[in-house]
Amino acid sequence: MTTENPTAIVFRRGIVLTMEPGRPELHDTDVLVENGRITAVGTGLAAPRSALEIDAAGGILMPGMIDTHRHMWQTAQRGYGSDWSLTNYFYFYYINHVHAFRPEDVYAGNLLAALESMNAGVTTTVDWSHGLRTTDYADAAVDALTRVPGRFVLAYGNYAQGPWEWSATREFRDFVDRRITGEDLLSFQIAFDMSADPAFPEKAVFDVARELDVRITTHAGVWGGSDDAGLRRMADHGVLSDRITYVHTGSLSDDSYQRIAATGGNVSVATESESAAGQGYSPTRRLRRHGITTSLSTDSSVLVSGDMFHAMRATLGADRALGHIEAHAAGETVTDNELRAADVLRYATLGGAEAIGLADRIGSIAVGKRADLVLIKNDRNPAMFPIIHPAGHVVQQANAGDVHTVLVDGRLVKKDGVLLLDTRLAEARRAVRDSVDRLRDGMDEAAWNAGLTPSRPDIALIDNPYHYGNHAG
Ligand SMILES: [Zn+2]
Repeated sequence: MTTENPTAIVFRRGIVLTMEPGRPELHDTDVLVENGRITAVGTGLAAPRSALEIDAAGGILMPGMIDTHRHMWQTAQRGYGSDWSLTNYFYFYYINHVHAFRPEDVYAGNLLAALESMNAGVTTTVDWSHGLRTTDYADAAVDALTRVPGRFVLAYGNYAQGPWEWSATREFRDFVDRRITGEDLLSFQIAFDMSADPAFPEKAVFDVARELDVRITTHAGVWGGSDDAGLRRMADHGVLSDRITYVHTGSLSDDSYQRIAATGGNVSVATESESAAGQGYSPTRRLRRHGITTSLSTDSSVLVSGDMFHAMRATLGADRALGHIEAHAAGETVTDNELRAADVLRYATLGGAEAIGLADRIGSIAVGKRADLVLIKNDRNPAMFPIIHPAGHVVQQANAGDVHTVLVDGRLVKKDGVLLLDTRLAEARRAVRDSVDRLRDGMDEAAWNAGLTPSRPDIALIDNPYHYGNHAG
C-alpha cells in the first residue's frame, strides 16, 4: 500500500458514535489509536508526539461498518441486473453468466468489491462466495481479498455441488490449510443453502464446520427457495446453533423464528435486495419481536448497491413503511415510529460484529478494541450541515462520498476523502474491464440485451368513470 502508516493516530474533537451501551454519543471528543488498538477515548487527550492528528470537528467518528453477506465475486457485473427480480437473477445469471466465469473473473469482482468497501467505510465484509467451483476459484478470491488491507470473512461456497460433496474433498481441506492461517484480517465460514432432500445430506457439512471450528451462513426464508422445511430438518437433526447466520428470512414462519431465537442464531437482512428481487419482506420488525440478533448486508451489486448507507436507509424505510401499513389496515395511525436511526446503525456495526463472532474485537469504539474506524465528514457537501442528530445524520443524510477517513486495524486506507489504494484500483479497473468484455464477447448480442432489459408486464389502466372536458393537455 502506498501510504504512510503511523503507529499512532488521534482524532480530535469529533462527534463520536461509540455504539457502546450507556455512552452511545460523545461530543467534542478525541479517540487515540496506537498500534492498531483504541487506547483512549476522551476530551483533550494527550497523544504521542509522533501521532498523526486528524481534525474530526464537524464530523462523526463511528465504528467501521460490517456487511455480513455480499457476493463480492459478482461485482464485475455491477448494475447489469438493475431491473431484475429473483427469477430474472436465477435465469439470466445462472444460465448465461456463471458457467463462463474463470478464476480471474472472481478475482476481478472481489478486488473491486473490496476496494468499494474500503471507500465506503465498510471495514469488514463477509464474502459470500458461492462461485468457488474448484479451489482455483477460491485461491483467486483470497488473492484479491489479501490485496486490500480490509477485514474480510471468506464464506466458502460452491453452487455447482452439494456442500456435503465439495466440503468432503481433499482439495478443500488443502485450501483451508494453505490459505486460512488464523491471520486476523481474514477469517473463514462455510456458505451453502439447504437442499430439498429429506435425507438431510447437509449433516456432513455441519460436521465439517464443527471440526474446523467455523461458522455457517445460509440463505433461509427465500420465497420459492429455502423454506421452513429446510430449517425444520436442521432442527430435527440438532444442528441449529448460535454459530449460524441466516440470510434474508423474510419468508420464514414464526415457528422458524422461534427456533432461530431459541438457539441463538442471527439474521442478515439485505433490504435493498429483498425489496427489489422478492425474497420476502425485509424482516427487521419481526426479528425485533423475536429478539433475534440482526445485521445488515448488501447481497449483490449486480442488482442493487454495495453500500451500507443505502442498506441502512432502505431498512429504516421498509421497517417504518410496514408499521404504517399494518396500522392503516387496522384503521389506526402510527404516532411514534418504533425503529430508530440508532438501531439501524447498530445493525450495521455492532450487530454485524456479533453475527460473525468478533464483537469482542470490533463493532464499537471502546478502549481495547481493534481500531476499525470511519470518520464521516465533508465540508464540501451542504447535506453534511448541520449535524443535529448524529445517528440520524449517518442513516438518512450521509453517503459514501462523505467518508473522510477509514482505518482498518489501525491502518489508514482512506484519508481526506481519498482512497489510498490507487494502484489497486487501477488494477481492479483493468481486471473488471477484461472480465466484462470477455463475458460479453462470449454471448450473442440478443442474450446480453435480454438480460439487460427483461420483459416487462403490461400495466392495465384502471377504468375511470370520470370524464372532464377541460383538463389541460
Ligand atoms: Zn445472497
